[in-house]
Amino acid sequence: MAIVWPCPLPVDAYAAAGRQAWFPRPDCPSCAGRMVFWSGYRRHVRVAGRCRKIFVPRLRCGRCRVTHALLPAFVLAWRLDVAETVGAVIGQVAGGACGVRPAAARAGVPYTTARGWVRRFRARAPELGAGFAALAVELGGEAIRPAAEAGRFALAAVGAAFAAAAGLPGWLGLGAWRFASSVSGGRLITANITSPWLITGRQRFMPPVPPLPA
Ligand SMILES: [Zn+2]
Repeated sequence: MAIVWPCPLPVDAYAAAGRQAWFPRPDCPSCAGRMVFWSGYRRHVRVAGRCRKIFVPRLRCGRCRVTHALLPAFVLAWRLDVAETVGAVIGQVAGGACGVRPAAARAGVPYTTARGWVRRFRARAPELGAGFAALAVELGGEAIRPAAEAGRFALAAVGAAFAAAAGLPGWLGLGAWRFASSVSGGRLITANITSPWLITGRQRFMPPVPPLPA
C-alpha cells in the first residue's frame, strides 16, 4: 500500500535530493504502529515533458510487518506524469475551457494519454465530487451543490475542498492537485473505487510538515 505525503518541494529539488530528501515518518495506516524506513526504490516522473528519476522510500510496520511506499504528492499512482500536469489537463477539459487535443498539446503529453486521464476522471466524477464536497464542508469550507454535469461537479468539489484546506497551515503552497493527490492517496484517477480517504480511519490525510532546511 502506498502512503502519499504532502511534499512541498519542486520536483527537480526532490529528484536532486535523492535519498537525502526530508521524509516524514507516519504511523502505520493499518494498525497505527510505529514504522521504520525500509529501503526504497527509484521510479520516473515526467514534468514539463522531461523525465526525472526520483527516490521513493519504503516504511515497514514492526507490528504488521507490511511495507508501505511513501510517495510525494506530486506523484499519482501508476502515472508517469506529475499531478500538476494531469490536473491542468483535467481542469481545462472537465471545466469546459477546451477539448482534449489543445489541452494535451499545452501540457506536452500525447493526446491518447490526456484522453485517458479525462475519461477516468469523468468515470469517477460522481464519487470524487461527493468525496471532495464532503471534505470541503468538514474543513469548514462552503457547501457546493452537484452541477448538472458530474465532471464539473467533481472539479468544483476539488476546488472547494482545496480552498478550505488552504486556510490550514501548509496547504496553500502545495496547490490543488498535490492536495487532491494527498487526499486520495494518489488514486485520483485510478480504477479503484474504494474511497481512499476512509481507509486511514480517523485521520484522513497527513498534514503538511515543513521540511527541515537542507
Ligand atoms: Zn501496522
